[in-house]
Amino acid sequence: MSPAPRLYGGVDLGGTKIQTAVVGARGKVLGEAREPTPASGGPPAVAEAIERTVRAATDAASTKPDALTAVGVGSPGEVDEGTGTVAQARNVSGWDGPFPLGPTLSESLGTRVVLGNDVSVATRAEFELGAGKPYTSIIGVFWGTGVGGGLILDGREWSGRGAAGEIGHTVVKIGGRRCGCGRRGCLEAYAGRASMEAKARRLVEQGERTALFEIMEKRGRTRLTSGVWDRALQDQDKMARQLIDQAVEALGAGIASANNLLDVEAIVIGGGLGTKLGEPYVERIREAMMPHLFVDDRPPPLHVAALGDLGGAIGAALVAKGKPASRG
Ligand SMILES: [Zn+2]
Repeated sequence: MSPAPRLYGGVDLGGTKIQTAVVGARGKVLGEAREPTPASGGPPAVAEAIERTVRAATDAASTKPDALTAVGVGSPGEVDEGTGTVAQARNVSGWDGPFPLGPTLSESLGTRVVLGNDVSVATRAEFELGAGKPYTSIIGVFWGTGVGGGLILDGREWSGRGAAGEIGHTVVKIGGRRCGCGRRGCLEAYAGRASMEAKARRLVEQGERTALFEIMEKRGRTRLTSGVWDRALQDQDKMARQLIDQAVEALGAGIASANNLLDVEAIVIGGGLGTKLGEPYVERIREAMMPHLFVDDRPPPLHVAALGDLGGAIGAALVAKGKPASRG
């Protein structure tokens, strides 16, 4: 009898939702599940929600969590891959100090759990299986609750001393808008969904009008999700358009600056907003880059992340599988 095929779990822990996938050895998705990231209860509530999604995804794949060879979790914040702790996951409500996410999940799921940085695992998935496949050097830009970046250089993931890829905190305006990180003028302060929502709320307090929050309530949401922004843009909502215009300008400046330094073969745009708004907005980011590109006669191609919403979860499963990204 041949041994059972190896299956891996992948979890993408985001500020808005938890997306989980059960993935076969060749990267095929066999089951998936998602639920909103708990807005209260802190890390223990998040760990329970992750456990539920893994159980739901394994049900969908007709298996059980303890039958998975390993589960990978792509997490925001400071991820200690050695001990399995996560600290300072700022986009997840109530997550400040270190929490032993890996050991907690390993105990409740009955299998090995491996942690990775959410953005680097999503970049790896695009590089190995998605829009980055034809290339050996890419920048992944994940435009969602925050703005994350991942780097593959010369076929290998580049993590620097552990903190590389923070394109969201490159400065696009000296002394500019306050960022969630406490500094001023970061790309994320203009393009991160959390920052854009805070800005929209301030504008409403100042008496400006928008349909953003009505759309949010109509959909039973408590936050301005990518779908809410998309709807407001389609309705020609003036505030939504202005804030997204500023986000596109900031992304153009930030990505062009990163490319001036690295000169990669391609840039992949993912994240909740990146995949929801898709090609028309990626085209606008391409145009917004042009004035800032030092070598502007051969701009790098920009692609929408091909794995869409599932990229982070698939990438986390690849981390669980273990082989580091490399090609070329
Ligand atoms: Zn910042």
